[in-house]
Order: sequence, then structure tokens, then C-alpha cells
Amino acid sequence: MYQNNLVNVPKAYNEPVLEYRPGSPEREELKKMLKELKSKEVEIPMVIGGKEVKTDKKIAIHPPHDLNHTLGYYYRGGEEHVRQAIDAALSVYDKWSNMPWQHRASIFLKIADLISGPYRAKLNAATMLGQSKTVHQAEIDAAAELADFFRFNVEYMSQIYREQPNSAKGMWNLMEHRPLEGFVYALTPFNFTSIAGNLPTSPAMMGNVVVWKCSNTQVYSASVLMEIFREAGLPDGVINLVFVSGPVAGKVVMTHPDFAGFHFTGSTGVFQQIWRTIGANIEKYKTYPRIVGETGGKDFVMVHKSADIDEVVTALVRGAFEYQGQKCSAASRAYIPDNLWPELKEKLVAQTESIKMGDPEDFTNFMCAVIDEASFDKLSMYIDNAKKDDVTEIIAGGTYDKSKGYFIRPTIIVTKDPHYVTMEEELFGPVLTIYVYEADKFEETLELLDNTSPYGLTGAVFAHDRYAIRLATDKLRHAAGNFYINDKPTGAVVGQQPFGGSRASGTNDKAGSILNLLRWVTPRTIKETMVPPKDYRYPFMEAE
Ligand code: NAD
Repeated sequence: MYQNNLVNVPKAYNEPVLEYRPGSPEREELKKMLKELKSKEVEIPMVIGGKEVKTDKKIAIHPPHDLNHTLGYYYRGGEEHVRQAIDAALSVYDKWSNMPWQHRASIFLKIADLISGPYRAKLNAATMLGQSKTVHQAEIDAAAELADFFRFNVEYMSQIYREQPNSAKGMWNLMEHRPLEGFVYALTPFNFTSIAGNLPTSPAMMGNVVVWKCSNTQVYSASVLMEIFREAGLPDGVINLVFVSGPVAGKVVMTHPDFAGFHFTGSTGVFQQIWRTIGANIEKYKTYPRIVGETGGKDFVMVHKSADIDEVVTALVRGAFEYQGQKCSAASRAYIPDNLWPELKEKLVAQTESIKMGDPEDFTNFMCAVIDEASFDKLSMYIDNAKKDDVTEIIAGGTYDKSKGYFIRPTIIVTKDPHYVTMEEELFGPVLTIYVYEADKFEETLELLDNTSPYGLTGAVFAHDRYAIRLATDKLRHAAGNFYINDKPTGAVVGQQPFGGSRASGTNDKAGSILNLLRWVTPRTIKETMVPPKDYRYPFMEAE
């Protein structure tokens, strides 16, 4: 079919985000799908070597916003299933890693079109119900961002294969971008269906075989992703999905000699623990495993005295509270100058208190529930502490209720202590902490901000004064891997703002860019000499 052609891949583009206005066809289709998914209880097996695997441990799945409803059950596995998944992956290694890249590209382009086409409603509905997202949050994640990952990654893949060294006269130098020798382990978080989909597939696209363990609270949409991968013709065994506890999977994976790569997104603590385990087992592996991890954030909004108040208020409300603040990029600390504070406070509190919260099936809601009881309990504890502490005042929200689902009102804490715990630690919920500073101390406050938290993921500066923008951009050079000027610190788009941060926020390999895909290949340089010399002696050795 393609053997003798140097083919070009289709130009990547960002999937348009649909609006779901009343009366629109996408809204009707989605509502029908939500009803359909709510009307049945599904059974979700693991998928190992293309086979559906069930166990005797059935775990019920409930929407975080409607705990009395059951969406279905998944089957929980153990160590033996992780071993089977590794064996299944390695058994197809030769076939998959030797598959011409154009065929791999074709599968992933098809996945993108299935996601943005016939499966759009199902994947969005599963994300809304299983992870408690509004339709807009589901659409920008599960439909748009995931399709973007596939289309852009295919383009980046072709750029990588095109990357070749020079050849001097008499030789031909080649670079073969081989997949890693072994299997890749993808460990994914609950909060983005797109990340869950991207982590196992970006190594697979480059010819790797993968064991994928998703979050227990994302199983519902993960099963739809697996259905799509198989529908698109991804061969059995290339990606194997297991539902096991993280430590159990880690024990088998991290001691296996063929463990060749780790693709992670999740919390900093888990990443650091796994990195330590990899280090402790380093002699067991045939190759040094590639470690890619995108982790937590304590993302800031830094406001200058010249900023526009309404712009800041919108950025704070959207940046801090969309998807209940459960984005690694969510604005969770803000520095506001005292000249703007009285008016800004009034508007921010009014808008925050106006937020409607509830079931994502009611499209008038802006927020839904947090993911699970552990998260709910942790967030309510921080809120209770802020009510008691001398240096803090809660100016909006501060209430919570788990009788129907895990609902936490969007909460704003104002603190007099710029090192208060909620200015430093990631809470991963709808809690924004504000420190009001003296308007003339902008530069000192930039330094304070830079030295407050161990993270370096996202951040924003709001100012009209260009000198202030320049100063903030310079001073905060290492404070964020994604830096925004007069915009909220969330909402990165694949192909436009490649995402990731450093410091405690991760290895900054920028998901949705060529940099990430480069981590999943290990190049081989090949030199071919056309007419090899037949005498070891050099001309300088000849007698005069
Ligand atoms: P998490 O760390 O709790 O879980 C991530 C994965 O690790 C899950 O599959 C989980 O089952 C597994 N896991 C949990 N504990 C484990 C352990 N002890 N050993 C092995 N595996 C374990 O994270 P989460 O709550 O699913 O996601 C939220 C976190 O992810 C936040 O910290 C957020 O900032 C981060 N995140 C970062 C990015 C980014 O790009 N930087 C994007 C999304 C989320």
C-alpha cells in the first residue's frame, strides 16, 4: 500500500468545541445518551491481550453527585492480572514495533475521528456521569482535547521520523527512532479523560506496548476509551487495561526486567514514591526506564495595581472553580494589591456566591461534585481549619454537604499569612486563597510568590503596565511551566500551549508536543559506507 511512498500525514487541527445551546443537535444527542447510560448498569471487565477479564471482586460505580445511583460495576484484579498484562504486551512487541508507522498513524487518526464523531456523545456522557463534569468541561476534555492529542501527535510522530543526520561523501547516515525495548507502564489520574487516553497511547503510537492502570474513579470513561481503541483497530495486546490498586501494580511492574518506561500524571507524592522504587530496583532492568511524570500544582494569579478588576474576577472564578478546582492548573492562590481589593472583593464574592452547583445533567449548573469521599473529607477539614485560624477569614462559600453527593461550595479564604498552608499545599478542590499585598510592593511580592510553594506548574499575571508584565515574566521564570499574561492559568490547548511544569510539578515533558513523544523512542544511528577502504595504511604514512 504505502511501501514506496514518502507520505505526508493530514495537517493537524484543533477540534472545534461544541456549544450545546438549547435546541442544538449536539445537546439533543447528548441528553439522549445521558438517559441511556443512566437507564442501565454496565459491567466493566479489564482488557488483557484483547480478552475481557472478570474476577470475583465487583466494585460499584456511582456518580460523585448522585451516590444513590449505580452506573455499573468494574472487576478488580490483582498481581496475577498485572503479570498477564505485561506478558500480553510483550507477546505482541515484535509485531507492533515493526508495524510501519503509517499504519500506526492511521489507527490513531481513526480514533480521533471516532471520538469527535460517533462516540462523542458517549464519551462526554460517561465523563459527565463518572467524573461529575459539566457538559462544557466534558466537551473540552474528552471530546476536544483527546482528539487534538491524537491528531497533533500523529503530526509530531512524522516529524520525528523525518529527523535525520547529515551524510558526508561516500556514506549514508540514518537515524532509526526505535520504540523502547520492553513495555511502558501508564498510570493515569481521575481528572481528565484526555490525559487518561493520552498516557497509554502516545507511547503506543511510537511503537511501544503498554500496561495501563487507570484511576479507580475514572474506570467508567476509561472503558469507553478502550471500546474506541478496539473499534479503531488497535491490535490486541498493544494497550492492556487493568483495574488494580496502584501499589499492587507497582510491585509487579517495577520489579520486572522489561520495564522500560513510566508515563504518569497524578499527585507529586505518588510520583516521588514511584521514582524511589524505580531507583531501588535499577539493577533489575535491562534498560534505564524513561520516567515521565506530570504532577501537582499550586497555581497562582498575580495581580498588579494597573490590572482590570473585571478581567481578574472572571479569571479567578473560572480558573479556581471550573471542574470544582480539580485541575492541576487551577488557580488556587492569588496576590491582590490593596488599591484594587475593596472593589475586587465585592465583585468576586458576589460572583462566587451566584455559582449554581449540582447535577451535570442540569445544564444550568456551573459546578458539580468533587470526585470522592476522601477528597471531600480532606477539603472540608481545610475549610474548617481556616474557619478557626487567626490569620484567615472565609469570605465566600465555606459550606459542604455529602448527603446526596460530594458537594463543596466554592470557597475563598483571605489570609494575612502569605505562607498559610493553603497558599503552599495543593488541595485539589474549589478553594482559592488570597493574600492582599501593599500595591507598591509588587516586586517584593513576586519574590514572595516565587519562594512560597515547591510547585512550578501554571501561573498568571494581570497588568496593563507593560513594565510590570516584563518584570513578572522575568522574576517568575521558573515559577511556572505554563505562564499566562492577562488570562486564567487553566485551559491549555494541545498544539498551542504545550502543557507541563517543573520543580515539584513534574519532569515537564510537555504533553501534546514533540518533546513528549521523543521520550518514547530510543534512537539507533546507522552509518553505511559505500566503498569501504581495503588497506589500513593512511596516505601520511607513505615514504617521502
Ligand atoms: P493520584 O496521584 O492520587 O493518582 C494517580 C494514579 O496513581 C491513579 O491511577 C491512582 O490509582 C494511582 N495511585 C494512587 N496512589 C498510589 C500509590 N501509592 N502507588 C501507586 N499508584 C498509586 O492523583 P489523582 O487524584 O488521580 O489526580 C490528581 C493529581 O494529579 C493532582 O495532584 C493533580 O495536580 C495531578 N495532575 C497533574 C497534571 C499535570 O499535567 N501536571 C494533570 C492532571 C492532574
